[in-house]
Amino acid sequence: MTHDVDVVIVGGGPVGTTALALCGRAGLRAIAFEKDVRLWPTARAVHFDGETMRTLQGLGVAERFQHVTIPMRNVAILNEAGEVLVHAPTDRIGEQGWNDHISFHQPDIEQLLREVVAETPGIELRCGETVTDVETTDDGVVVTSSDAAGEVRTTRARWAIVADGARSEIRHRLGIESDKYGEDTPWLVVDGQLVDAPGYEADMIQFGRHTRPALWLRLPRHRVRMEFMLMPDDDPAEIVTPAAVERISRGALPADKFTPDRQAIYTFRGRIARQWRRGNIFLAGDAAHQAPPLFGQGLCAGIRDAANLVWKLDLVARGVADESLLDTYESERKPHATFWVETAANQAVIIQTTDPQVAHGRDEYIRANPGASAVPEPPALGPGLHAGQDRGGRLGPQPILADGIRLDDMVGSHFLVAAERAVYDDLAPALRAALDDDGDVVTLLDPAKVSALLATIGARAAVLRPDHYILGTAGTAAELERLLLQVPSLTGTADLTAESR
Ligand SMILES: Cc1cc2nc3c(=O)[nH]c(=O)nc-3n(C[C@H](O)[C@H](O)[C@H](O)COP(=O)(O)OP(=O)(O)OC[C@H]3O[C@@H](n4cnc5c(N)ncnc54)[C@H](O)[C@@H]3O)c2cc1C
Repeated sequence: MTHDVDVVIVGGGPVGTTALALCGRAGLRAIAFEKDVRLWPTARAVHFDGETMRTLQGLGVAERFQHVTIPMRNVAILNEAGEVLVHAPTDRIGEQGWNDHISFHQPDIEQLLREVVAETPGIELRCGETVTDVETTDDGVVVTSSDAAGEVRTTRARWAIVADGARSEIRHRLGIESDKYGEDTPWLVVDGQLVDAPGYEADMIQFGRHTRPALWLRLPRHRVRMEFMLMPDDDPAEIVTPAAVERISRGALPADKFTPDRQAIYTFRGRIARQWRRGNIFLAGDAAHQAPPLFGQGLCAGIRDAANLVWKLDLVARGVADESLLDTYESERKPHATFWVETAANQAVIIQTTDPQVAHGRDEYIRANPGASAVPEPPALGPGLHAGQDRGGRLGPQPILADGIRLDDMVGSHFLVAAERAVYDDLAPALRAALDDDGDVVTLLDPAKVSALLATIGARAAVLRPDHYILGTAGTAAELERLLLQVPSLTGTADLTAESR
């Protein structure tokens, strides 16, 4: 089959558009089909983490993203009586080289992603075109779509990324079921501008009010978000009125000071699709997983999917890696996403309880263990292309170097070999020469560039993947040689290692 493009993406939401932009940066030809003609004007996600910002940095427009985001300076948990159980500063540059918690208005981010797509050659976002079928074949996919006039088009590609959201028609067509985590819970989500009213001091507050769990977030400019759990006695028509919002916000959103963009009821749910790959079709974003938004990780996880998958597609498309590398997408990403969905679902039971006894016990516990409610450490990837030992499969850090340059800006979307000079010098000379010639690998030995990275990882040498996850660490040249043989472009160099002689 001849392919019209390398990759077709179903859905031009934030995950599909990020995947499209990453394809363009990698040099893959790609088209994304988006059924809506105009950008969705209202927000869902309001927070992402430093890792997401780092992926956006990889698109070469970090400063533009910074203009439409603000760091989250502090977070708090308050109980029914208004007692502050937790108040923690979060306004610091974290291991990823960016703030760990960043707030934004989702349409601003999506608009910027679309601008990146428009500026990148070889990719196209086609709006107003609905994908009706995706079929996997022996050597690719056949994607059927139709526009508003009913004109049907067939696009042939090597792979499809299905990022058509939580309701994913294509996932249903493929017959892929999802597993449920936690209870489905309806919430009222209110976004708007708060002017001449103080709101709350903290940028993010979880209200552990058992009479009505709620959330507060301060967003760029005068924008704020509040979310309220719906209670059994709520009248759905009344609860969305300005008077009701003033009441249930306990006065934080006065009707005469707060101008809503929208008030919408969402059902927060935890779901993980049982299968993320069907032949040449990959599910990503909400089509593959949905998390209750407790840790603000749903979109982050979707962007992680895109970042995990696209460099693998690129290596396989260029013949650098074997097709089997693509199996590691699901094996690595599914357990990672499941961790966040499961943790958010479990935490919701406690933080958002409506049982006064449970709320009382929770308050006592948090008072005694204030650290227990902190955002958990991200897990390692599931089994895949990493050594698994030490920090293999964990996200690597991004130091900001003495000259203010962030590490990724030097490395780009390549494998990184960072090593102490002494370890590197002990590699077999032929392997060092192969490393020098390898366009998929950047080697950094200058202590000014690598010492902070190696100190944080706790190793004398480390290999990091293009998505910044650690392939593995090494303490000796022999260990580093074994690690290098796992880099797809170096797998054929076993006869060059010192060990082979
Ligand atoms: C209230 C709320 C708060 C949230 N807060 C956060 C947060 O703070 N942080 C966070 O990380 N996440 C958060 N999330 C989750 C986050 O919003 C989602 O994970 C994210 O928007 C999913 O992006 P997506 O691109 O996968 O799907 P979507 O945004 O749903 O995009 C899918 C796109 O596919 C298009 N489409 C669908 N079918 C077709 C078709 N057949 N053909 C062509 N196009 C199609 C749709 O029109 C849509 O544009 C929140 C969610 C909710 C509901």
